[in-house]
This record gives sequence, structure tokens and C-alpha cells, in this order.
Amino acid sequence: MKREPLIIAATSDIAGKVRGKSFPASQLEKRLERGVGWTPTNVQITCFDSIADSPYGALGDLVMIPDLTTYTELDFQDGQPIERFVLGNIHETNGSTWECCTRSILRAAIERLESVANISLFGAFEHEFHLVSNESALGNAYTTSGFRAQREFAEVLVTAINQAGLRPDTFMKEYGIDQYEITIGPVLGFAIADHATILRELVRICAERLRLHSSFTPLRDPMDVGNGVHIHMSLCDKEGNAITYDSKNKYGLSQTAGQFIAGILKYLDSIVALTAPSVISYSRLIPHRWSSAFNNLGFRDREAAVRICPVNSLSDIAEMDQFNFEFRATDAAASPYLALAAIVHAGTQGIEEELDFPVVTEEDLSLLSESELYDRNIVRLPETLEIALERFTSNETVIGWFPHAFADVYIKHKQGEMAYLSKMTETEIYAAYASVY
Ligand code: GLU
Ligand code: MG
Repeated sequence: MKREPLIIAATSDIAGKVRGKSFPASQLEKRLERGVGWTPTNVQITCFDSIADSPYGALGDLVMIPDLTTYTELDFQDGQPIERFVLGNIHETNGSTWECCTRSILRAAIERLESVANISLFGAFEHEFHLVSNESALGNAYTTSGFRAQREFAEVLVTAINQAGLRPDTFMKEYGIDQYEITIGPVLGFAIADHATILRELVRICAERLRLHSSFTPLRDPMDVGNGVHIHMSLCDKEGNAITYDSKNKYGLSQTAGQFIAGILKYLDSIVALTAPSVISYSRLIPHRWSSAFNNLGFRDREAAVRICPVNSLSDIAEMDQFNFEFRATDAAASPYLALAAIVHAGTQGIEEELDFPVVTEEDLSLLSESELYDRNIVRLPETLEIALERFTSNETVIGWFPHAFADVYIKHKQGEMAYLSKMTETEIYAAYASVY
């Protein structure tokens, strides 16, 4: 019997999960027009499969329309089926945009940046994750043996990255036990989040094929190192020229980049509920974890919320084109679309408000007194998801960046997630997140 290949049409949702429905590959052309049916309340399925309070209940219908630019086909030549998936936008059945479609939310943010400042974003997500195997061992931080323990996975992953049309950059054994890191090349605008979503899928697919367990959980246990997601960004004009760098500035940042970053920092406490959205995300966002704990811009400082990254004078890429900054207060419990939308809106708001250039820090902020932090306009980030959600809902500017219904849906979703965990011990909570991300 000749096998009928299936394509999964999928969305990265509020839970940061990629969910979808498959259809026969022979129907692709038709499905690009009419999509596949989808249910509004699916948006309230938490990462733990519980269903949070939904304003949609059992009512209503939507369609997910695949976007062919994200079509991914992977032939592993291992005797198992070819992998085929495509990401899509969620629409009402009359074709209009659905209010909780994460891709449409990001599209609106990127368009706002373009219309307010006539500039585009260029960037890439960097991901840390765990791969659990029998070889897991102490003493392997950054080691060649730690790398070799997963060389097969690494080579399969990099091949899949190439097949998917992304650009592999580096793969390494990270610091933590079982922890690895994968970086990919930067792309323009909206595709930054598509590539991050595809990359996470590739990691999962390759791990499944090799019978390994992968996890992007923000933190495996409170004593461990976290799995960060770091979003590298630079700005460019309509002709594609880099406009992040200005040699006249001590730290090399242009005025527009300074305002964009100032916006991120001003609104960070109110958007972190979207960028670091799990209960355990806040145990990663503490001092000395090389994540970020304050709303600061750091010069080459891995504890900064936004880090000015180094340039390499030996590279074939011009220094001003390499120049970029990195957002570190995020993790893979967040949908790349929502995290990036929040950052882009905050940055655009900073340009619109013509904010002053942020103070650049080069020191351990956890050693400063409250008044020293206050003088530098620096605040500690929310220390729990509850506080982060409160800051989000009480900031009308931030709520206003999103479709009317979104904030309420988001809060209810997160309340449902917290309710699921409410009777668990700390150990059980960490294990629950490790098993679902
Ligand atoms: N694991 C750290 C984090 O949680 C990042 C370490 C690094 O700088 O690569 O963000
Ligand atoms: Mg790293």
C-alpha cells in the first residue's frame, strides 16, 4: 500500500506549545486557501493540558491557514516517515484575523515598528536545552566529551536545520549537566520568530528520532543552571543598512537603538509575564544565574536584561553589521511570537516616546543599595509570575498594544496553569515543567 503523507499545520500558542492538525499532503494547495478547522478554546489549553477559564467556552470555530514560507520537510533517511509541518495563522471563518493568533500579534508589532520608525528588526534566538541520556555526567561543562556524548544528535540536528532552510551557527555542550546550546543565523523581521519556533521543533523531532529526551524547561531544579533563550537583535533601515551602531557613542549604540532599548527597559516589568511566562521562570531570573534580574542595559554583561554584545574584528562581516544587543529575560515557556511582539512593541514605544539613552551598567547590580539602583533608574524584575501578571494587567499602555480580548485571555490562561500546580510540592512543579517543555 502506498502511504499517504500527512502535513501538520500548527500554531505556537500562549502556552508556548506547538499544536495543530494534519491533512493529506495532496491537499496542500487547497489548505493554503481554506485552512484547517480550529477551536477558540484551544488557546486555553495550558502546558499541562488543563483547560483554563475560557471566554469562548464550547462555542465558535476558527481556521488555521498554513503559511507556505514556513513549510518544513525533513527526510532523515532512517526508515521512519518524512517529517512535514507548516506554521499557520488563525483566522475567523470569515477570513478576518483572530484576536489571539500569536503570529498576527507579532505581525502587528513589526508593522508598528516599521510605520513609527521606518526600520526593520534583524535577529535570531539562541536556545539552551537539556538532552538526557545515559552518559549524563558531572565534569562535562563545555567539554569535548560532553559534546561527543551527543555528537550524533548534533549532526542530525544541524542537517535538519539545513534541510529546513535555517542557517546553523554553533552547537555546544553548555555549562549545566546534560545542557546544550544551539545558535542559528539571523534573519529579517517576522521570520526571526518563525525560525525560533521551527528550531525548537527540530530539536524535539531529532531527539525523538534518536530516543533522547529533550527539554527546554526554564530551570530543571532550583540548584541547577537555567535554560535561557537569548534574543539577539539589531535594527536596519529600509535598504537593509545596519543602524544599530554609532561610533560617536561610548558603547557604540545609535540614538534609535538607544531609544528602542530604553523602551524595552521601561516596560520590562510589565512584559516579562509574556517573555518569561512560567511559574519557575522567576527562579531563573535572579542574580548570579547569568540570566537577568534587573531592567538594565549591560555592556558585555551576561547578567543584564539587555546586553550589548561583542563584535569580532577577525570576522568577514563588517563590525557595524555584526553589532547587536541581546534580550536575556526570556525562556522557552514563551511563544517566540508573543515574546518578540512584546519586545518590539516596548522598543517601538521607546522610539515613539523619544526616551533618553539608558544608563549602561558594567557591575554586579545585586551589590547596589536601593537608592543607588533608584538613581540609575533600575528596578528589580518581578520575582513571581503573579507579580509579573499584575504588572502586565495594570499597565494600560502595554495592554493597549495587543488586541482587545488578549490580556484577559492571557491572564486566565496563566491562572489556569498556576491552579494546576497549586497542590504540588516544589519538586513536583519543577518535574512537571521539565516534562512538558
Ligand atoms: N544559562 C544562562 C541563562 O539561563 C545563560 C548562560 C549563557 O550566558 O550562555 O540564561
Ligand atoms: Mg548559553
